[in-house]
Amino acid sequence: MNKHKAKKHFGQNFLTDKNLLNKIVEEAGVENKDVIEIGPGMGALTQFLVKVASTVTAYEIDLDLKPVLNQLEKHNNNLTVKYEDILKTDIPNDKIYDVVANIPYNITSPIIFKLLESSNINSATLMVQKEVCDRITSKPGTKDYNALTVIINYYMEVTKVMNVSKKLFRPIPKVDSAVFKMRRREKELNDDEEKLFIEIVKSSFHQKRKTLLNNLSFSFEVNKEKINELLQKLNVNSNERAENITLEQFIELTKIWNNI
Ligand code: SAH
Repeated sequence: MNKHKAKKHFGQNFLTDKNLLNKIVEEAGVENKDVIEIGPGMGALTQFLVKVASTVTAYEIDLDLKPVLNQLEKHNNNLTVKYEDILKTDIPNDKIYDVVANIPYNITSPIIFKLLESSNINSATLMVQKEVCDRITSKPGTKDYNALTVIINYYMEVTKVMNVSKKLFRPIPKVDSAVFKMRRREKELNDDEEKLFIEIVKSSFHQKRKTLLNNLSFSFEVNKEKINELLQKLNVNSNERAENITLEQFIELTKIWNNI
């Protein structure tokens, strides 16, 4: 069972601590829910998920883990393991799903974006690098606040669950980890506006030291006077930097941007 040699390129760091695994499942609140797990590895988290969830669908890229996961599948008929790259597969949209995962850290952002864009993902409880968790849960006006923070918080209500010491993994990684939970919020923008919102937020943070005005005029080919006018409507000073703009202000800016 422990013969598998961890593969760095697949972001493999396996969890060992039973109390921690139990706590993650408890915080995820997935009793009788349909769960998606990303990267079950040797099934450390999976074995706790199958006990409480209605069904567990797990996506694993590494075929070498098949012997271990086959055993788990054999003993739990509510578990289905799919040997697919989570970034290349279509997340099933037949049901509402809750995601619970200790994800591969090398693809954290694309995984999170994929989950945000899949509207039938109701919640996700994810273990990520502590540094990433700090960014995701940061507030405006702090150094951690960035485009990813604003975009995640638009789609989801985000809460930090706990820090996790790197010593609880095998092999022991270089960085500490943390768990956060995100729950889907009601949409405030329509689909077209959402695309524009993401563009506006990404552009606003394009060069952190530049003002909002300069970043936006650089990306959008809209003249500065016009942008200034819009910012004034929002009571935002034209010298302001993106790190001081709240989610609500970005949403408002998107709505009025359409009228240019
Ligand atoms: N959940 C396990 C393993 C976490 S390590 C535990 O906590 O012990 C991350 C896991 O994600 C590994 O099993 C790795 O093989 C898998 N993985 C890496 N990239 C993947 C991808 N693109 N799609 C699906 N699984 C992936």
